[in-house]
Amino acid sequence: MTHAVLPTVGFIGLGNMGSGMTRNLQRAGFPLVVNDLRRESAAELVAGGARWAATPAEAAAASDVVITMLPTPRHVDAVVNGPDGILAGIADGGTWVDMSTSVPEVADAVRRAHGARGLRILDAPVSGMSVGAANGMLQIFVGGEAEDVARLRPVFEAMGDPERILHVGGAGAGYAVKLMINQLWFSHLVATAEVLAIGVKAGVDLDVLRDSLIASPANSNFVEHDVLSILDRGDYDEGFAIALACKDLGLSIDLARSVGVPAELSAVVEQIYRRAKAQYGDLAGEMTPVQLYEDLIGRPLRREAVAA
Ligand code: NAD
Repeated sequence: MTHAVLPTVGFIGLGNMGSGMTRNLQRAGFPLVVNDLRRESAAELVAGGARWAATPAEAAAASDVVITMLPTPRHVDAVVNGPDGILAGIADGGTWVDMSTSVPEVADAVRRAHGARGLRILDAPVSGMSVGAANGMLQIFVGGEAEDVARLRPVFEAMGDPERILHVGGAGAGYAVKLMINQLWFSHLVATAEVLAIGVKAGVDLDVLRDSLIASPANSNFVEHDVLSILDRGDYDEGFAIALACKDLGLSIDLARSVGVPAELSAVVEQIYRRAKAQYGDLAGEMTPVQLYEDLIGRPLRREAVAA
């Protein structure tokens, strides 16, 4: 019944993030047309009524709004500009929303080369990890025209926390905000790992050290909440591969360079991330840099290990 009034959403990229996001769009009643390099990633969605599109062009042609959720700018470029890409299928005046963590170059080039087609293009990257994608509680940072953001709000609300769907500025602002969020979070992670490793090696009980940090002006969301995934469960978040984290850090430093702001700290954090990627592999979790410090002190940072 509601299907008749909801726009058809084309969705390309059914990985760790896209799989949860599409499930929530489907639950909210949006008709879906989906595409991925891995046909099998769509099986559950198709069983639930989604239509499979053989190419991004087909997904774009069959939908009112087409969303991309792809690993890197290179993948976004291929999916948009490739021979069977979005541009080959999208109607003039159609809407493309890139929710990947990326940079504005691909969208800017499309605007320049296809300005006469009247395409509506938004960047809307997300935070909240694959768990947030699965729960429909993502934070979404949207760059684009206000009227497009308002029109697409129901689509975003099916995937994200309504309180944390933020219109952050014009085209490209969403990408920039997202890169800065990740940069700061990765910096918190490395700084916290270093401090915990030094303190524990100096003989302080891990719980006492962390409780003291929480009680101090040095407290952070990472110390208070996010680090517990490692301390309690040894979970380094394989839902976000460290190769993609390194991609984000590289893009963030490129952004700093392009605006002429030195990024000394970010550069060190990037190198530590790249060391962890080299050591533990591309698919290791985004929090694996903590393991570098655990290896250095010869023991895992675990609350139960301390208690034992
Ligand atoms: P992923 O690698 O798990 O999924 C990417 C999907 O894109 C894969 O299913 C892949 O087959 C598909 N794909 C790649 N090239 C394609 C092409 N040419 N045509 C069709 N499909 C193609 O990645 P992810 O973890 O879902 O991340 C997606 C984006 O979201 C990235 O930009 C990432 O930085 C960002 N992000 C991820 C997380 C997280 O926790 N995983 C959190 C926030 C943001």
